[in-house]
Amino acid sequence: MTRIAAEQFVEILRIVSARIDEAREHLAELDGAIGDADHGRTMSEGFAAVVRDAHEAARRGAGAAELLPIAARSFLNAVGATAGPLYAGGFAEAGRRLAGRAALADADLLVLLAGLGEGIARRGRAVPGDKTMMDAYGPAIRAASAAEADGAGVGEALRAAARAAAEGREATRTMIASKGRAARLGTRSLGHVDPGAASAAVVVDALREGYEAVLARRRTDR
Ligand SMILES: [Mg+2]
Repeated sequence: MTRIAAEQFVEILRIVSARIDEAREHLAELDGAIGDADHGRTMSEGFAAVVRDAHEAARRGAGAAELLPIAARSFLNAVGATAGPLYAGGFAEAGRRLAGRAALADADLLVLLAGLGEGIARRGRAVPGDKTMMDAYGPAIRAASAAEADGAGVGEALRAAARAAAEGREATRTMIASKGRAARLGTRSLGHVDPGAASAAVVVDALREGYEAVLARRRTDR
């Protein structure tokens, strides 16, 4: 079976980091409207640290799943803001679910997505409709499992997840924030997209893109 080795997993993380970087100004603007405008910078610095440390660990021979607890520590150390412990919790949970895999099977990317989102949910204690990143991760995880249950391939499941995350992001406009800084605004948070949901949608779509890049590489290497 074809698998995703540690180096290829780093390439996927690199794509996530690049897309978050591209969204940096937009995320700062979204956070500026209902928070403290640091979300673009913190996400960008967090994923840059993840890629740097994951790359270094893979170079030293770490297995693919071993990169996840490393990513958790890197993100936490790089990011003091709320997103730090949330993503650290997400990466750590994904790492627990995939522990021992030297290389990932394609379907493990769906396990990764579910672990990331559910680890974040547990750490943040957010429920659906709280106008948080979970309003993108929750629908994404459910869409991926539904696609998988329907017999879809991993690529199709990730595309469904990315669409659901984008819809979830848009749905946060109609929600009143009840977590974090934005909660102080009460109904004045209405009409604004939650920056955490926006960055979550970027992450999910970048996982989809990263997997497609892995597939394209496989075709040319064959
Ligand atoms: Mg902020």
